[in-house]
Amino acid sequence: MALSKHKVLEDFFGFKSFRPGQEETIDAVLAGRDVLAIMPTGAGKSLCYQIPALMLPGLTIVISPLISLMKDQVEGLKDSGVQAACLNSSISPAEYNETMDSILAGKLKLLYIAPERLQRAELPRFAAGQGIPLVVVDEAHCLSQWGHDFRQSYLDIAGFIKSIKPKPVTAAFTATATPKVREDIITLLRLKETNDDKGAFIITTGFDRPNLYFEVQKPGKNGCASKDKNTALLDCLKTRTDKSGIIYCATRKAVEEVWDLLLRRGFGVTRYHAGLGDAERKKNQDDFLYDRKPIIVATNALGMGIDKSNVSFVIHYNMPKNIESYYQEAGRAGRDGAPADCILLYSGQDVKINEFLIARSDEESNESNPDLVEHNLELLKQMTYYATGNGCLRQRLLSYFDEQSQGYCGNCSNCLTAFDEVDISLEARKIISCVYRLKQRNRAFGKVMIIDILKGSRSEKVVSQGFDTLSTWGIMREASAHRIRAILDWLVEEGYLLQSAGEYPVIEMGIKAGDFLKGSKPLMMMLAKEAPPREIPFREK
Ligand code: ADP
Ligand code: ZN
Repeated sequence: MALSKHKVLEDFFGFKSFRPGQEETIDAVLAGRDVLAIMPTGAGKSLCYQIPALMLPGLTIVISPLISLMKDQVEGLKDSGVQAACLNSSISPAEYNETMDSILAGKLKLLYIAPERLQRAELPRFAAGQGIPLVVVDEAHCLSQWGHDFRQSYLDIAGFIKSIKPKPVTAAFTATATPKVREDIITLLRLKETNDDKGAFIITTGFDRPNLYFEVQKPGKNGCASKDKNTALLDCLKTRTDKSGIIYCATRKAVEEVWDLLLRRGFGVTRYHAGLGDAERKKNQDDFLYDRKPIIVATNALGMGIDKSNVSFVIHYNMPKNIESYYQEAGRAGRDGAPADCILLYSGQDVKINEFLIARSDEESNESNPDLVEHNLELLKQMTYYATGNGCLRQRLLSYFDEQSQGYCGNCSNCLTAFDEVDISLEARKIISCVYRLKQRNRAFGKVMIIDILKGSRSEKVVSQGFDTLSTWGIMREASAHRIRAILDWLVEEGYLLQSAGEYPVIEMGIKAGDFLKGSKPLMMMLAKEAPPREIPFREK
């Protein structure tokens, strides 16, 4: 008797009902349609292919880059009585032979395989007897160089699938996919050329994680109680004793420093980065996973495959290079559905670090790719807007993934901060005029110089170039540099001014500048009240 999907759900996995998106995805696979499912971490992607694998005759192949996750899944499946195995670099020749034998004998239902092993495995030949009805591409964003985790070996997948006769169903899964990445997955896996006349089934379940609270702190700046990042970090931890959390840093050096700081302060803390040996990395990760050490300080090497349900906070000591990375890393908090906090400690220095890392990765690649560099700088800009903007943080994140949301979530630091709506028309006019006057002299400068001129600085840089004779010199003497900076940032973000890319970005006239200067429409901006410190909002936990 054929198994029903509900029965499989209950008998093998012990669950009563499907989560959003699971049933539709399973139905599409069973109907023979290729699938692209974009679901956030923790949504339950695995069941979407494990259930069809159990219901379809033959061997389902799951391509996954995550060796540790593979092992866990295979163990879990075996415990539930499912015949599963994996092939990756950690497998001994004996295990390899054993797995191939069970494929030949038609006994295996699910095979997890690392993309690097596809060429060597000769799978289609071994599985010829029982057939391969379904090939699953997990973490499918690794296919796209526009994503945050491109892997060369993923490009072999399409050829591998093509070599299987008859053509299997292809099901691709990912947690993060911007429109560009989505297009790449569809094109590179040829999901459109499906057997079924209805074409590929594409499903996106919501990205919002309502239990996550988002916060940005700018240590040392107006509106933030802490004078520097270390103080801010210690303050964050003070109110979160006994909780498990991840602290992400941009560099190994920063990991070492923060780890050392917390050790000296008596925290139960471990560390993780690619500079440590395999054994130590594994031990430290396990210490964290099994709650022997509640806190881990890590670079983004602590990545996919971290499946710890009770992570209560993720603090970014440095700003990551783009929103996709940020949302994925921050999203490791609160997978158990309990309230959890995602806090970003921002400083302007973070932008510099990331620009450096983007340039370095281009230098280190075989062939320089200016388009990719420019694209990455644009993504960095989006991330910076998240950190510096005053709008709802959740809305910023979701709109990045093309998801509509209200402008007020009530559960992020911007929604909970007191802002004044201020008429900045006059100040904006002064700032834009200053950029315009420089342009008339065929000059363009970065933000610091523009602020210097507006403040009426007599510094060597200003005077030697004669900028103290500009009509805009000193016209904002009364305003704080911090306020001018905030308005200047906002004007760039809103398109009144333009900031060039590159190592020494300069400010130029934006597309909206001309109309604004000619017109008389008031310009309103949300500015944080000037009086620090901000109260910590009360939230029930
Ligand atoms: P993802 O791969 O999307 O991050 P997983 O497949 O690892 O998510 O699933 C996350 C967790 O949710 C797992 O512990 C899984 O057992 C659980 N889960 C998945 N589907 C269901 C369901 N229908 N009912 C209850 N729990 C589920
Ligand atoms: Zn909000």
